[in-house]
Amino acid sequence: MKNIIFIAPPAAGKGTQSKLVSTEYNIPHISTGDLLRDEIGSGSQLGIKIKDEMDRGSLIDDDIIVGLLRERLSKVDCNNGYILDGYPRNVSQAKIYNDLLKELNKDIGVVIYMSIDEELALSRTLSRLTCSSCGASYNSSVLELKPKIDGICDKCGHTLRVRSDDNRETFLNRFDTYVRETKPLIDYYNNLSVLKTINVGADKSADDIFNEIKDILN
Ligand code: AMP
Repeated sequence: MKNIIFIAPPAAGKGTQSKLVSTEYNIPHISTGDLLRDEIGSGSQLGIKIKDEMDRGSLIDDDIIVGLLRERLSKVDCNNGYILDGYPRNVSQAKIYNDLLKELNKDIGVVIYMSIDEELALSRTLSRLTCSSCGASYNSSVLELKPKIDGICDKCGHTLRVRSDDNRETFLNRFDTYVRETKPLIDYYNNLSVLKTINVGADKSADDIFNEIKDILN
């Protein structure tokens, strides 16, 4: 399997799709947001610094992320491909990532861009719920992503919460950051001929989108 990069605005469903692809092709799903949340969870000094920035919706320092990523991509489970979710988020990170790939002797693979409009992304963000224990994500406004029992994780039975960065103000900040910083990556990867685009509309289910992704990967 190829290495895969997912690029999408907040709440396009890239976390959900990454997990589906990971299960189908048996490759690890590496989310830089999760790597950062793990660091916060460890209670380290670095974690405390990261939490402040994340709650404001700011991007975390390149050096911090590339350090966490080098460590993760060096593990043997990445040898047959992996999914990168949440990285790179700007052209500068894409260049750093190219250097990291050379250093680790890996290919760029394919870049999947999930395009969604801002209104739909906002309404999904405000109805997103995350498991306080295993991190699984649900959405009360998307039928197939609702938990079976209100407020309880299907997978581990722990309580679901609204993530501290899933509010309107942080969303608008993150969307703005996305347009400024991340969107230029679309041209960047298009020029490298590795970009594939999927349109996420309100009329498409997570399964529809997953089928489109499988068509790209097969
Ligand atoms: P996510 O889980 O991908 O929605 O990311 C949550 C937050 O983690 C973001 O708002 C950023 O503060 C931080 N973050 C995740 N990935 C990156 C990245 N590649 N570069 C900088 N900050 C990141």
